[in-house]
Amino acid sequence: MARRIIQPKSKKPRRPRKPEISPTKLRMFLECPLMYKLVYVTKIGRYYYVPNAGNSFGGSLHRALQDFHSSGGHETQTPEQLAERLKNTWVSTGYNSRQEEREHLEIGVRLLQDYYENSKSGSVTLMTERQLREDMGDFVLIGRIDRLDERPDGTIEIVDYKSGRESVTEAEVANDLAMSIYQLLAKKKYPDRQVMATIHCLRTGQIASASLSDEELTELEKMIRHVASEMLKITEDTEIPPSRKRICDGCDFYKICERRARIAGIEWGSNENPDTAE
Ligand code: SF4
Repeated sequence: MARRIIQPKSKKPRRPRKPEISPTKLRMFLECPLMYKLVYVTKIGRYYYVPNAGNSFGGSLHRALQDFHSSGGHETQTPEQLAERLKNTWVSTGYNSRQEEREHLEIGVRLLQDYYENSKSGSVTLMTERQLREDMGDFVLIGRIDRLDERPDGTIEIVDYKSGRESVTEAEVANDLAMSIYQLLAKKKYPDRQVMATIHCLRTGQIASASLSDEELTELEKMIRHVASEMLKITEDTEIPPSRKRICDGCDFYKICERRARIAGIEWGSNENPDTAE
């Protein structure tokens, strides 16, 4: 009997994924295009990442709150259960000693108990720790939100937790790039609703909110499209000229940054110490 030859199904060529632009990428590009290139284009940034206590502490609190709200929040959970969630989601890396880690865990439990007592509202939580996405043509705009609530009057409220910050004002929320982008993404998802953004400082319980008008959101979208088109031109070969910006203190690339040396007027590779030349 003649054997039937089964032809492999021809696979449709996959369309390349569109680049994703997040508030973090945009902010980094606006602050220092070279840092953006090192982290997101050449990707050597990952070899310079040093875990730190602030990131571990913030991440642990965020995950505990995510679990709390996705399990029913105040309706079904007790403060003790919320504290227990922190112990389950705790990340130990980045602390200088066991003592420092223990102290942070105690602070975290206290912050969550305060959060439990002071954050009851008539709002309904629609999602937690979720990425919102919007196809913008050449790229996809993304934003990871901590919590998205529907207030009793139907307003959509994005809530962002800050674990290191102690205070916040309405003006700071209104001028915060990430909070503005979250509002734009929420408006695309809920076009008929009023949207607003709130920053909740977990250390003090301070809260401030702001809401962009439709005109402001349109302006923001224009700005994002313009900056994104510049970002997407950057390749591994792109030369980034020195600028006079002074944001280098604390940068992970401080020691290896040729651009910083050029800003300081030093020939790269010479024995001159950039730290003393500036
Ligand atoms: S050291 Fe300064 S110029 Fe260099 S990547 Fe960092 S922020 Fe940018």
